[in-house]
Amino acid sequence: MLVVMKHSATDEQIDAVVATIKEMGYGARPIPGGQRTAVGLIGNDGEVDSGRLLGLDGVLEVIPVTHPYKQVSREWREQDTVVTLANGTKVGALDVVVMAGPCAVESEVQILDIAHRLRELGATVLRGGAFKPRTSPYAFQGLGREGLELLAKAREETGLAVVTEALDPEGADLVAEYADIIQIGARNMQNYPLLRRAGKTGKPVLLKRGLSATIDELLLAAEYILAEGNDDVILCERGIRSFDTHTRNLLDLAAIPVVKSLSHLPIIADPSHGTGLRAKVTPMGRAAIAAGADGLIVEVHPDPPHAMSDGAQSLYPEQFGELMRQITVIARAIGRDVTPRLS
Ligand code: PEP
Ligand code: MN
Repeated sequence: MLVVMKHSATDEQIDAVVATIKEMGYGARPIPGGQRTAVGLIGNDGEVDSGRLLGLDGVLEVIPVTHPYKQVSREWREQDTVVTLANGTKVGALDVVVMAGPCAVESEVQILDIAHRLRELGATVLRGGAFKPRTSPYAFQGLGREGLELLAKAREETGLAVVTEALDPEGADLVAEYADIIQIGARNMQNYPLLRRAGKTGKPVLLKRGLSATIDELLLAAEYILAEGNDDVILCERGIRSFDTHTRNLLDLAAIPVVKSLSHLPIIADPSHGTGLRAKVTPMGRAAIAAGADGLIVEVHPDPPHAMSDGAQSLYPEQFGELMRQITVIARAIGRDVTPRLS
């Protein structure tokens, strides 16, 4: 529920609304707006009697939030959320953002080499897993802390921001020490202790859609992070399970405009995991930008045939350069642009 204050409401009147909500046993979150302040009521699991709030001085109206998720909804916040990263890159603003890098950090030479090339080709965020959620327990699990240190070194050398995955709550704290964005992978989208801990770190979070998650489930998972007071959440459509075997997953591009209408949070697309096939990454990356995605996260490897994970879906650096050229044309065609290359 949102308590919308009158334009003329005083700070004391807003404080009184907050105090009353707390007295009623709920949480209150003032949301200053351009025209007027609203106070969001959180912590209710069902209907709230709004009569007491409507009677308070300075209250214009009380709006029920009609979705099960609240703080992520457009009803709660009309303007788009823009997540600003430490290197100045903005996710959710007019320019689309490209995050790129190998599936996993494999060695110092590999990550530094690709980071420099990606920067030259126009990426502003470097991806690379240090903790890998592999389907098989016998597959390469990542370099762990050493991988995080290598990512930090790549950031120092290139200025690229770093996004990398955390697999569990303790890992979220560790990743937060090194990365600019904590990635929560598809397999962990509903790992609620992890979502809460990532929220508590205060670092931007990239939340990937679960393999079989509905859009409402994705938004409710994001709500866990906002409920910890962290609004810097970037959603990611990375493909869902379906019946066709020609691609690894079904990249659900309709989810992009759907999420945009339901939520103020930015959403990017992952055409690498979405298709599983190198040749399909560029067309679907183009399509995602055309559909309104705020950016892409793409796997690029200096030597894909020898990648330790996801080589078949990793672009060669030259292909990534071509992808950048093509999405720039598409972004401009819809009144946007690609985030300028780091200077
Ligand atoms: C990844 O980004 O490397 C990854 C494991 O992605 P997802 O969680 O979407 O499968
Ligand atoms: Mn991968």
